[in-house]
Amino acid sequence: MISIKHVNKTFGMNQVLTDVTLEVPKSNVVAIIGPSGAGKSTLIRTINALEPIDNGEIVVDGISIHDKKVNINKARSEIGFVFQSFNLYPFLTALQNVTLAPINVKGLSKSAAEERGKELLTSLGLGDKFDAYPNRLSGGQQQRVAIARALAMDPQVMLFDEPTSALDPEMVTEVLDAIRKLAESGMTMVVVTHEMGFAKEICDEIIFMADGKVVEQATPAKFFTNPDSERAQNFLSKVL
Ligand code: ATP
Ligand code: MG
Repeated sequence: MISIKHVNKTFGMNQVLTDVTLEVPKSNVVAIIGPSGAGKSTLIRTINALEPIDNGEIVVDGISIHDKKVNINKARSEIGFVFQSFNLYPFLTALQNVTLAPINVKGLSKSAAEERGKELLTSLGLGDKFDAYPNRLSGGQQQRVAIARALAMDPQVMLFDEPTSALDPEMVTEVLDAIRKLAESGMTMVVVTHEMGFAKEICDEIIFMADGKVVEQATPAKFFTNPDSERAQNFLSKVL
């Protein structure tokens, strides 16, 4: 479903991704973990071309994302992205946030978009928040609206960049539960996270990055008990 091959990327003189190769089969959930500055956000942003790459190839659901001939807006509508900082439109209600792109990009009728939007918000525990503006919602609620907004486009894959790290601790669980449910529904996902327990529990595979490289790629069982690299052992001794 997602195929990343020999991707290199520099910011000026700084090589931030070096020969990154990884495959995410359909319905798999992959966690990307690693120290700050490892290139995790940069990598996940290249998957929907929020960041250009210098060379290599990224294919999502058969579409070569960085090919100049590709209609990137169309390609992006297949890829849901949830950011650390929610990024909701402040002047739109929860429901309007969720229906905006389906109406404007997918051409859904307002009533069809609202019906689906209400269904999604309700399934995420926000059945009483359709008309609430973001500033009236908790961080955890805002992040669940952001997840509903991404799902409203019926994406083939979902990408999350530290979806819980801007949340107060008591709100982390509700957002992780929403992501867990998505994983169980068979959604293909890449999740950058510092939540090791969560990664261990829901992911099929762990990608450990450091210095712009994939240092280790293993099942959670292997990675969290017996990682091969010293770099990963060192990292885990600090975060577990
Ligand atoms: P964190 O865990 O802190 O979020 P990360 O693994 O997500 O870290 P990135 O944000 O991908 O790391 O950054 C990787 C490297 O790229 C860092 O050295 C960073 O300074 C650099 N970098 C990221 N974005 C830019 C940019 N827009 N311009 C220049 N350098 C950048
Ligand atoms: Mg980051």
